[in-house]
Amino acid sequence: MKHFPIYLSMTDTRIVLSGGGAAALAKLRLLLKTEAQIDVYAPTPAPEIVQWAEQSRLTLVSRPLMLEDLTNAKLVYAADEDPSVDARTQALAVKAGVLLNVVDNLKDSDFITPAIVDRDPVTIAIGTEGAAPVLARALKADLEERLPPRLGFLARIGKSFRKAADALPMGRRRRDFWADYYFTAGPRISNQDDAHEKLQELLTQHLEARDRAGHVQFVGAGPGDPELLTLKARKALDTADVVIHDRLISPEILELARREATLLDVGKHGFGPSTPQEDIDALIVEHAQQGAQVVRLKSGDPTVFGRLDEEIEACDAAGVSWSIVPGITAASASVASIGQSLTKRGRNGSVRFLTGHDMQGFADHDWRTLAMPDQVAAIYMGKKAARFVQGRLLMHGATPDTAVTVVESASRSNQRVLSTTLSNLPNALATAAFDGPALMLLGLHPRAACALVLDPMKQELA
Ligand code: SAH
Repeated sequence: MKHFPIYLSMTDTRIVLSGGGAAALAKLRLLLKTEAQIDVYAPTPAPEIVQWAEQSRLTLVSRPLMLEDLTNAKLVYAADEDPSVDARTQALAVKAGVLLNVVDNLKDSDFITPAIVDRDPVTIAIGTEGAAPVLARALKADLEERLPPRLGFLARIGKSFRKAADALPMGRRRRDFWADYYFTAGPRISNQDDAHEKLQELLTQHLEARDRAGHVQFVGAGPGDPELLTLKARKALDTADVVIHDRLISPEILELARREATLLDVGKHGFGPSTPQEDIDALIVEHAQQGAQVVRLKSGDPTVFGRLDEEIEACDAAGVSWSIVPGITAASASVASIGQSLTKRGRNGSVRFLTGHDMQGFADHDWRTLAMPDQVAAIYMGKKAARFVQGRLLMHGATPDTAVTVVESASRSNQRVLSTTLSNLPNALATAAFDGPALMLLGLHPRAACALVLDPMKQELA
């Protein structure tokens, strides 16, 4: 950051501007919105400047700027649009020790004026350090459109009401009141004179409201790419008091949680250290009983190998309300990355989701059916079970050249794809040394057009 945005107090402040043409006018239009006293030095001022002087909105001196004019000035603008005159203003500013802006000249300026979205007292400054004025204008236009014109009015009334709102306990209840004011009740106030009274009514409602009951949302975080979150998942993260998440959740997704939310990692690794399930159940229930909006964030879809039912039963037993927000499961993200379908007319009319290991160890399945031609299965938690799966399938008659694709970190920037056959699977996996979450797709090779995403090791391994 070469320029640091700050908000400068304009109370009892003098700003000096040298220039009387188009550039001077553009800057003055902005400066006139402030409380500062503005002194313009211009031998030939534009008619608007003369008019503003007549309305006492600024003072106009019809001669060039002199050193003594800069005494007590906080800022000076060189806006003559003439390099030699601007250089002279710059020299004076340096001598007087006043911060200088040379219009359209980033290099010689001490400060620059951002694009401003003005909903006084709410102001948004947009700066691109001169890199992209078009982008700054587009951002400004976008924000102008999005922010209600009366936002400034609501903020001013809100400010005068802050003390009264302190009657609500700090934290969620007070936040809820303000959110209600700015986004629901406030915009509906039609008559400005009623604003205070309406705000008082709203406060009374909130003061009388019984403590909101806690609630648990079991939310699917998808395979890792934040863009694969559902809108509902985003909303849940946006309003959560507590987010209890697995280790597989990517940091970019945790970033989206409300800034004040408590984040609890109850990481569970396939074979590694983990928080016991009963402790997780207890944690969820405990926070909900304290009235928190709890998001239990699970990778992929919460209903797929997520031990969801145990957590739901714990909620039911404690009388805590809950709901499920589905997510994109790893199988969907993995087939998408290799351009294949989970089911295909004429090939497989059903698909299985299997786990490579369960609580007892390697999981047993209907290997005889799985070993038949054209079967498609998504094997979760299968890396360590690869040799076991291979052995069972071959034993039940699967052909050694059955296609197997392993997708590591599907949808994430470090995604890797390994395309191999059943006979090569354990060796190929050992060579690839995947250390991220990986899904095995039995019966599928990547579509040729997706060759780009293939692991370079494939050539050696094939
Ligand atoms: N509920 C999750 C699955 C949890 S079990 C879902 O619906 O996706 C954990 C297993 O999911 C991992 O061992 C791995 O096999 C798979 N997995 C999760 N995220 C993955 C990803 N981004 N890429 C590949 N596999 C993933």
